[in-house]
Amino acid sequence: MKNNLQNSSNPIEKKIDWKSVQAIMREKFGNDIFESWLKKIELIDEFNNYILISVSTRFIRDWITSRYLDQILQILKEYKKNIIRIEFVVEDKNNNKIENNIEYKNQNLNNDNVSFLKDSFLQYNRIDPNKNFDNFVTGPSNKLAFEASKKVSQDIAHYNPLYLFGGVGMGKTHLLNSIGLSLKEKNKVMFISAERFMYQFVKSLKSNEMVKFKEYFRNTDILLIDDIQFMNGKEAMQEEFFHTFNALLEKGSQIIVSADRPPNKLARIQERIKSRFAGGLVVDIQNPDFELRYNIIKSKTDELKLFYPNQINITEEIQKFISTEIRTSIRELVGAFNRIVSFSRIYNKVPSLSETRIILKDLLNLSENKVTIDLIQTIVCKFFKISKNEMLSPRRSRYLVRPRQTAIYLAKMLTSKSLPEIGRAFSNRDHTTVIHSVKTVDRLRKEDNELNVNIDSLKNKILYNQENEI
Ligand code: ADP
Ligand code: MG
Repeated sequence: MKNNLQNSSNPIEKKIDWKSVQAIMREKFGNDIFESWLKKIELIDEFNNYILISVSTRFIRDWITSRYLDQILQILKEYKKNIIRIEFVVEDKNNNKIENNIEYKNQNLNNDNVSFLKDSFLQYNRIDPNKNFDNFVTGPSNKLAFEASKKVSQDIAHYNPLYLFGGVGMGKTHLLNSIGLSLKEKNKVMFISAERFMYQFVKSLKSNEMVKFKEYFRNTDILLIDDIQFMNGKEAMQEEFFHTFNALLEKGSQIIVSADRPPNKLARIQERIKSRFAGGLVVDIQNPDFELRYNIIKSKTDELKLFYPNQINITEEIQKFISTEIRTSIRELVGAFNRIVSFSRIYNKVPSLSETRIILKDLLNLSENKVTIDLIQTIVCKFFKISKNEMLSPRRSRYLVRPRQTAIYLAKMLTSKSLPEIGRAFSNRDHTTVIHSVKTVDRLRKEDNELNVNIDSLKNKILYNQENEI
């Protein structure tokens, strides 16, 4: 993120050569994955900080999003440092219908600054009609969050701000989106991620458009800010955020914030902002129990029948299997389900249990082997003969840096933890440090065969948990 912010005023650096991006994807993900899922992606258009690609179904889009998007983004960053996200168009080849109502063709980002600014806000203010209250399934772990979200949609500013927190893939963005969706007819709704807020702030500052920026935010009736934990801006930005926040509260606008942790655990955010958050209603979403997981899968199956009557039925056996095995997050659960659906479409049959195991192998391994960051650290420390304290210390001696980077790299490869989560497990390092480590080790593996072999053997030790055999 830091890089993006610093380079945000640079023009396009290099045109993306899609053919070679595909070659890299094939190499990185392997033939099978590439052939099944990634080959048909088409590059539609590229802009300064995002690109537009097309896929043929929503399921493939969701699946790519849940499994590969981070890595594809990394590949693209080699071409264009400024890229911060990938947007999808779902294009049904049969009737050429474009599902997402993106008017990308008309968008001229080289217009004068004002409309550029406006366009780019709008660009990130898109609310997904497919994530609403009706298809949010509730259970004991998310009921309070759901009810609080409904309440603010019916009775604006009753709980203000509303602060939702919970782990990755638990449904926070879905709830924020649902609130936005239900209020956008009658109110000015602004739905933005904290990263995006920072980005726009810096950009507006550079292009002398702070007045527009302020006006834009202060005119909203409903401000939804997703993933506030990524807010790590400079004082000036936090200052602006604080004032916007207060101005909105004063005029009775509703503010809804999501985060991966409670307000008091937010790093790099001013105390007074945190206490503002804590002053509203704070609700958490916890890990889903079996029943909720199963109900989500059932509701996804019903949804599918409704929208695609010809779709092959996913058997109850498979539904139960997925709900039992995929426990880490709802995102993974939905991702697994989508993969089964895609399989059934491609092969025109429901996968058997053993086929399901193969299709979901990577997801199942993760929960079965219980690879934790702690285990990775233990094994890597032993291997490099350093102590865990040394690994987690801020010291940057050469003999510590490499093992640390290796452990971070393996944590990214072998667990489903997000970049910030990994950073946190390494004494609260920033997620940019995690990205840097992953990149460095990725590069070194190509250059240094010995290291490459070592990493493979570490990987096996971790996967098969042979801690004692080192
Ligand atoms: P978060 O923002 O907490 O990381 P998301 O809101 O992006 O998680 O949810 C991940 C995926 O799981 C999305 O596809 C979302 O629609 C789905 N999902 C999460 N919770 C539920 C739920 N309770 N019912 C139905 N779908 C859900
Ligand atoms: Mg989210």
